[in-house]
Order: sequence, then structure tokens, then C-alpha cells
Amino acid sequence: MSVLEGKGITAPEVLRALMAVPRHLFIDDSALHQHAYEDKAFPIGCGQTISQPYTVAFQTQLLEVRKGDKVLEIGTGSGYQTAVLSVLGTRVRSIERHKPLYLQTKDRLQRLGYKAELTYGDGFAGAPTFAPFDRVLVTCGAPFIPPALIEQLRPGGILVIPVGEGDVQRMFRMIKGLDGRIHHEDHGDFRFVPMLAAKQ
Ligand code: SAH
Repeated sequence: MSVLEGKGITAPEVLRALMAVPRHLFIDDSALHQHAYEDKAFPIGCGQTISQPYTVAFQTQLLEVRKGDKVLEIGTGSGYQTAVLSVLGTRVRSIERHKPLYLQTKDRLQRLGYKAELTYGDGFAGAPTFAPFDRVLVTCGAPFIPPALIEQLRPGGILVIPVGEGDVQRMFRMIKGLDGRIHHEDHGDFRFVPMLAAKQ
């Protein structure tokens, strides 16, 4: 049993997608490459981190994507989560507020052949021009649930978002019913870098 399975990741397609993406290629500091397959977060520049594989797997599993889904990701970072979503056959649009990370990751994903639309912008606003989305995934700790992200979710869609102002957030899954009503689930404590407003 793999470490991820031991921690409760059971969706075979999620486990396969994480195995398929070479994580060391998303970490610049080559001194860290020997550790890239450990279940740890690592620095990626601009004071940000690549999430630990378990967190990526957990969020991806909660998102329950299907091939062809239109997905909005907030917090591109290294592009690792973006690549995992792309391997799962989704059409991903990802927003990053740090310009150096946006530029570097755009180049990286192109070079590695992962298809995704990257945007330099503020995730609090989402991507209204391209809404609605089947799925929305936030990969930074949000102080509250941005109303724009709920609006941009199609009826029947799923939003996965860590919410909390301190060091620790609660992982929420919000399912928008066909009648537009929101159903909340709480999936426990996680730690993310904060979701901050305004571009850098
Ligand atoms: N999914 C990434 C996780 C990176 S950490 C990965 O797999 O590597 C979270 C990222 O969210 C950081 O790069 C941070 O700069 C970004 N971020 C924080 N607030 C944001 C906002 N308001 N809009 C867009 N990106 C944001």
C-alpha cells in the first residue's frame, strides 16, 4: 500500500494521476529533488510552497472530476496540481497572483506538455468571462468563501476550498444543487499559505 493509500486516498484515478506527474520537475531547487517524492511541502519561491502530495490527492479526490470537466483552480503556484488535473482529462484554467510564479509555471507546463490556461490575476474575482465551471478548486487558505467563486459554479458543480484566517484551515466541499442551493461538508484541518488579495 502506498503512503497516500495509507492516509485514505482510495480513488484509483487520483492515485494514478499523482504517479503520472514527475513532481521533481515542479521544484526548482535541485538540492530538493531527492526529496520530491516524500509527502512534504517545499518552497517554490515568492514565499510560496508546492502542496504536499497528500493534500493534492485529498483535494483532487474531493473534487470528483470527470473527463472534459471545466475546472477553475485558484493558486497555480508550481503548476503541480494543475498538471494532475490536466492528466485527469479536465480543461483547467488556473489563476496566480505572483507574476514570477505565473510566468515560470506557464513556461514549465508548456515545456512539459501539460495543457492548461494560466492567468495572472486575483483569484477572489475568479474568471467571470469563462464561467460557469463544473469544478472550482482553491489551493490557498481563504479567509472566507469568495462569493464570485460560488456564482461561477454551475448548478451541480463542486467547490473545494480551505477556509480559515489563521495557520490552520478547514477543508470545505460545497456542492451547488440543481436548484442553486449550497450544501456544505467539512473535511477537517489542513495548512495552506494564505489567499491574499491584489496582484504581486
Ligand atoms: N496548487 C499549487 C499550490 C501553491 S501554494 C501547487 O500545486 O504548487 C498557493 C498559491 O496560491 C501560491 O502560489 C500563491 O501565490 C497563490 N495565491 C494566493 N492568493 C491568491 C489569489 N488571491 N489569487 C491567485 N493566487 C493566489
